[in-house]
Amino acid sequence: DKLVLLPDPMAGCPLADMVTAEALRRKKAEHPGATVVSYVNSYADVKAESDICCTSANAVQIVEKIEGEVLFVPDQYLGSYVASKTGKELILWPGFCHVHMSILPQEVERLKEKNPDAEVVVHPECRPEVQALADQVLSTGGMCRYAKETDAEVIIVGTEVGIIHRLRKENPDKTFIPASERAVCPNMKRITLEKVLHSLEDLSPRLEVPEQVRVRAKDALDAMVG
Ligand code: SF4
Repeated sequence: DKLVLLPDPMAGCPLADMVTAEALRRKKAEHPGATVVSYVNSYADVKAESDICCTSANAVQIVEKIEGEVLFVPDQYLGSYVASKTGKELILWPGFCHVHMSILPQEVERLKEKNPDAEVVVHPECRPEVQALADQVLSTGGMCRYAKETDAEVIIVGTEVGIIHRLRKENPDKTFIPASERAVCPNMKRITLEKVLHSLEDLSPRLEVPEQVRVRAKDALDAMVG
């Protein structure tokens, strides 16, 4: 029932591109009893093929409640993080976010050496070797909350660098250092203020989802929030 505008139709997500509904149907046929959990960074038709969605903030709690086999799509690193937290063996889709993958453990180690009092927070889409160096593995929302609560004055942040702007604005007395200056998502950067303005003026480009996909995708989203 909502009007959804995408100010730049090219602003997709390479992680979401890594699983198609067709490929997921084939995988489901190999694991007919598995519960399919799809990360919200996925397209509507993939959600429609899923039993339940999750965010990086609630993935552990969602998977914890599931009995039996779990097929987790599309991010293998978020999936392996969830597996380590829940003690469950998940069937992982081999997807990844190239932006989070670009953050290397050597970079984090170097920054830790230079800033021995700093805390390290990273997103669960980062490589496991990077997660292993972190004090906290958190969703972006979790990072924003944590930044306010922690006593640390210097925080090394392992996620898309755009969040640094918000963290600095909300916590002017603290220092935030990006774990990697290369962690810039070119797709996210396509959405500029100018394009948002044009999109709102023209009420286009609109995103439309076929009704049968919308209904099934909503079921998976409702299962997450319900
Ligand atoms: S940072 Fe970019 S590529 Fe990675 S999940 Fe977000 S939108 Fe997708």
